[in-house]
Amino acid sequence: MKEFDYIILGGGCAGLSLAYELEIHEKLKNKTLAIIEPREEYKKDKTWSFWRMFPHNFDDCVKKSWKNFTINIPKKTNHLECTNYPYQSVDSGLFYEKINNKLKENKNISFFKDLKEINSKNSFVFNSVPTIKKDYRNLWQHFCGVEIETQKNCFDDEIFNLMDFDCEQRESVHFFYTLPYSKTRALVETTWLSKINDGSQKDYDEQIKNYVENHLNLKNYKIIYKEEGAIPLFYPIYEKEKNKINIGTAGGMTRLSTGYTFLNIQEHSKFICQNIENISKTKRFEISRKYQFLDDIFLRVLEKHPESMPDIFFKMFQNSPKTVIKFLSNKSNFLEDLNIILKMPKSTFIKALFY
Ligand SMILES: Cc1cc2nc3c(=O)[nH]c(=O)nc-3n(C[C@H](O)[C@H](O)[C@H](O)COP(=O)(O)OP(=O)(O)OC[C@H]3O[C@@H](n4cnc5c(N)ncnc54)[C@H](O)[C@@H]3O)c2cc1C
Repeated sequence: MKEFDYIILGGGCAGLSLAYELEIHEKLKNKTLAIIEPREEYKKDKTWSFWRMFPHNFDDCVKKSWKNFTINIPKKTNHLECTNYPYQSVDSGLFYEKINNKLKENKNISFFKDLKEINSKNSFVFNSVPTIKKDYRNLWQHFCGVEIETQKNCFDDEIFNLMDFDCEQRESVHFFYTLPYSKTRALVETTWLSKINDGSQKDYDEQIKNYVENHLNLKNYKIIYKEEGAIPLFYPIYEKEKNKINIGTAGGMTRLSTGYTFLNIQEHSKFICQNIENISKTKRFEISRKYQFLDDIFLRVLEKHPESMPDIFFKMFQNSPKTVIKFLSNKSNFLEDLNIILKMPKSTFIKALFY
């Protein structure tokens, strides 16, 4: 069986981002790479959105970007600007196409459906397939989004809605998220932060229909795309193994308080690429411990007091939007962290330290 210098297990967001980064920096000229991906075909299956904190390789896959957004709780709306860090939505269909076209040019890169097809004994493995053990917390961000199209101009495409908490909470944390791609098209997503043991929040279609018709007041629309998913708000198992690094969600690249992962994956890919010659001896790349600690407290509060979360998110955004965006994107300084912490209900958060 054939051997390769490198193996990427899982050709999704993290696996392909890494392969692309290595390829454009000519790290695969004299090295061989096998990408193991079971899917039959690549088609659009996700929309990755994030505040653009730094340049990345996929500006040409951006479907739309915004410089203004809102956050709502019942009877209150906060209008915010994000001119310094525009919010971008990457179309996964364009992302897969761009990367696969580039990788095809290099004969040193091969695709397989199963790891059993090759000899992996002497390879360095980048693994993006998470091992999820039932965590003590078992908290997930689970959601369903539909792209709707209207005949008339119904959306203001200059401004997106990050979180609308003016909806039923069912003793959990629930909000709607609306990304208007044009005046006639928008992604409307119902999002829950909760345990997903019983499925009682999974009547997504009904939730979206109700929101679109009674909240956005749209009657004539059609659904042209749908995506559904769940992001673990805990770290998958990461066993230290010689000649193996976990990447993507499996590698702890999800910010647990928000689910944002895409830009962390890009940063991790750059880090691996810069250190590829000495990768087995390189220190593990992690989201800063500061955010791991703060997110842990945040999630303890969320679990214990879901009813307070709409207010907590709303208050967080009463800081300057630049501060909050930097905080949520792991780029805040000490003073900015302090500003965020001071907006939180102190006794609730201090008590959470001892849960
Ligand atoms: C619907 C959805 C929307 C999201 N939106 C956002 C967003 O807006 N912003 C953001 O920052 N993050 C978002 N995320 C979170 C995160 O960015 C994505 O989950 C991202 O795809 C994670 O990349 P990954 O490579 O870790 O996992 P994936 O992209 O899921 O890639 C893993 C790959 O492994 C393959 N695989 C599975 N089993 C095996 C196996 N046994 N062997 C080999 N390969 C295997 C899968 O087919 C898949 O292609 C979203 C997640 C989902 C599910």
